[in-house]
Amino acid sequence: MSRTIIVSNRLPTKVIRSEESLTFQPSEGGLATGLGSIYRAEGNVWVGWPGLFVTDEEEEKYVTEELQADSMSPVFLTEAEIRDFYEGFSNSTLWPTFHYFTQFATYEQTHWDAYVAVNQKFCEAVLAQAGPEDTIWVHDYQLLLLPEMLRKARPEATIGFFLHIPFPSYELIRVLPWRAELLRGMLGADLIGFHTFGYMRHFLSSVSQVLGLSAVNGQIEVAHRAVRVDAFPMGIDYQRYADAAASEAAIQHEATYRQALHNVRVILSIDRLDYTKGIAQRLRAFELLLQNYPEWREQVSLIMLVVPSRDQVAQYADLKVEIDELVGRINASYRTIAWTPIHYFYRSLPLEELASLYRLAEVALVTPMRDGMNLVAKEFVASKADHKGVLILSERAGAARELSDALIINPTDINQLAEAMHEALVMPEEDQIQRMTAMQALVQRYNVFSWTKLFLNQLAYTKMKQQTLA
Ligand code: UDP
Repeated sequence: MSRTIIVSNRLPTKVIRSEESLTFQPSEGGLATGLGSIYRAEGNVWVGWPGLFVTDEEEEKYVTEELQADSMSPVFLTEAEIRDFYEGFSNSTLWPTFHYFTQFATYEQTHWDAYVAVNQKFCEAVLAQAGPEDTIWVHDYQLLLLPEMLRKARPEATIGFFLHIPFPSYELIRVLPWRAELLRGMLGADLIGFHTFGYMRHFLSSVSQVLGLSAVNGQIEVAHRAVRVDAFPMGIDYQRYADAAASEAAIQHEATYRQALHNVRVILSIDRLDYTKGIAQRLRAFELLLQNYPEWREQVSLIMLVVPSRDQVAQYADLKVEIDELVGRINASYRTIAWTPIHYFYRSLPLEELASLYRLAEVALVTPMRDGMNLVAKEFVASKADHKGVLILSERAGAARELSDALIINPTDINQLAEAMHEALVMPEEDQIQRMTAMQALVQRYNVFSWTKLFLNQLAYTKMKQQTLA
């Protein structure tokens, strides 16, 4: 029987060391939910890093056995590997380059060497699990070289690759000293998926310009093997967010928040701390709203949740300082005894509290400079049981390709952003309901489960066609 092996940098369970013991904490991320029923099915397995540095062989054995019982197979990485492969090449070279922040990108040979070595380590871990006929689905930018490494070892394997971040224009890719190796690495797959057609076109253009391989009808001929390339916009577990927002706990939390906020209207902003998210521009735009439309003072507050992330990387620490200062300055300028313009939280919240914030907010402000997809936008939509509320969405988030009923803005244009906030706050209810209902139908239908199914079906079909043409 053919099995499916999922591979990603992180496993869907995080192992956490406390004083005396290890705890196993399942992730509630979108990918973990979407692929949950796949990797747990008989014989299947998820290969990835458990988020922990093991101290000795005995501990390694224990963690391996515990994870194996839940269909996971750990790849243990050392502190040096995490520094050079993960924080280095993945997050300081690929992440900024693929999000059009080349000014933040570093090009270190040692980071590249670690990236190759860790991809090789993942390759060996997968090969230890996979038979020649198995389906292997590799995820994201930390593992761009893995498809080709696997292809060399298992020429017959069915290999899929999905990129969860944007694929940028050739002009960005050409800057990378290792551009050819990275593209060849991806082309080891039979099917390569992106969130949008735009990313897919950029990939095809890079492959053509860097490797001289052209594509016909979304197919690239690589050494007598046809590689299929397509767009698969990832969705969310719609029902989970709809249910969480409708739960008694969320309703209770919402009532408490409303009372504490003296019923002011709420604009909501939720992201991981990241320079791609446009957080500082958003704050300046909110300030502009208060400046240009004094009637909103004491009437509307911005609730801003920033989830701590990658604080080992210098740009993230700088961004945190910038946000702290902006929030402090704006609040100091505008606050009154009864009203705080910006309620800023630097932490992560459990699902039911997120759900109550989604319920509470009339406007969600999702304004990344670049974002592969952006799930927060879809979660807000799924949480609006009364079909009211307005989504303001950056044209440079992958989600904007689908959510055309949002107020679509250019996130660098803070004047436009301030206008959009005003427009959202005065939008008639029937207009809100019409837009929200249309977006809900789409987010409900193209959810994370249909995304998984579509990708795996397309992968099986691609393989079948290759074989019939061979
Ligand atoms: N999120 C969370 N805890 C929080 C705030 C957000 O788990 O306190 C989740 C949020 O629900 C969403 C994810 O983090 O599913 C962020 O995904 P997105 O695609 O918007 O951005 P990314 O962080 O992947 O760049």
